[in-house]
Amino acid sequence: MIRHAVTLSVGDELLAGETLDTHGRTIAASLSARGCRVLQHRVLGDDVSDIAAAIVAATVGADLVVITGGLGPTLDDVSREALAEAMNESLVEDPASRMHLDQWYAGRGRVMPVGNVRQALRPTSATCIENPNGTAPGLRARVGAALVVVLPGPPREMRPMLEGVLNDELSGESRPTIVVRAFGIGESDAAERIEPLMRRDARLPVATTVSQSLLSARIRGNVPDDRDSIETLAVQVETAWHPFVFGRDDVTLSMALGAELKKAGHTIATAESCTGGLVAAMLTEVPGSSGWYPGGWVTYENTRKVEDLGVDAELIEQDGAVSRSVVSAMADGARRRAGSDYGVSISGVAGPDGGSADKPVGTVWIAVADEAGIDARCFCFSGDRPVVRDRAANTALQLTRLRLRGDDSDLLWQRDARS
Ligand code: AMP
Ligand code: MG
Repeated sequence: MIRHAVTLSVGDELLAGETLDTHGRTIAASLSARGCRVLQHRVLGDDVSDIAAAIVAATVGADLVVITGGLGPTLDDVSREALAEAMNESLVEDPASRMHLDQWYAGRGRVMPVGNVRQALRPTSATCIENPNGTAPGLRARVGAALVVVLPGPPREMRPMLEGVLNDELSGESRPTIVVRAFGIGESDAAERIEPLMRRDARLPVATTVSQSLLSARIRGNVPDDRDSIETLAVQVETAWHPFVFGRDDVTLSMALGAELKKAGHTIATAESCTGGLVAAMLTEVPGSSGWYPGGWVTYENTRKVEDLGVDAELIEQDGAVSRSVVSAMADGARRRAGSDYGVSISGVAGPDGGSADKPVGTVWIAVADEAGIDARCFCFSGDRPVVRDRAANTALQLTRLRLRGDDSDLLWQRDARS
């Protein structure tokens, strides 16, 4: 049974920083989901002896070695040659692959470039894996006790071939997984709340990660029968992180907010300044959002806040555009002018310029207005311009979601501020 893998990404462009090595991550995720542990991932240049040595070394500890890249038609792609060297075999032409290549070009009315003939070569005892999406077939071979597969670099060719190989080799071994997603709580605070569950010696330890300020707890079973155990753990995490948890697995904050709005039969309008429409973009990413999101305004410059949203110019003069009074008037204006149940607004200093002693870069006011009133809060986000904008947009979504649910909690980065 395949339990341990080593993955190798091949290509000079990966080492030069020109192309991001996304295959390492894609393959690791697919393997982990099927109960196969990745022992090591390496990035290698297009060099025959380096790749051959890495294959031989990998087969010592792993029972599966997945190599991507280096199967192109040009002379710099040498993964085929490297596999042959690792196997101590020569390259021979694979008749079925040669026929696929001939047909590929004939079907497109093109003459096959001479270099492409190389793509039909394989080490004597290896087999070719058909590539319906491109010219380079993959390769499958035994090296020592390990199964070695070489997959083409282009993602749209690599991914289906990977799934095919894994379905053949690892089917029926899938591990149940639940990811609990939260926003608005710090990572160390979150970890403290679930400390006993995160212990490395627990049978199924919970692992937390933060990506773009979104917190995830990953709970993974070892065998399909662990489904009930991981469900129990997930509920424990959800309880400990309440009310910051907005969903599981692939649910986004905007999907969660949309679901709440839909359930309540309510609508929301947006008024954004420093986020320039980010919240609107996030909301409209959700299919069916027209059912609860009529639209909004990007009122970047002060005149727009006055003319489009009805903000009193004197308020801006008196308190500044980044203030409780202005952000409240924006949320209220959006709600009234759109005729929606809720209005959410953002006005802040995203930087790098524009900060002052009492309103440093990262200061953002966010307000949510509804029939009952307006909740305006001040935040001080750390990070550069894109990070501040992203955190502000997510915070606005979470603040609105909490108000809809009647959960009142301070959120991460919130500051006490009067105006
Ligand atoms: P190759 O099989 O070496 O001809 O790869 C062709 C193309 O696939 C490269 O130019 C990259 O754009 C892409 N590619 C190869 N390896 C990777 C990788 N590890 N991650 C993302 N893209 C890759
Ligand atoms: Mg290449």
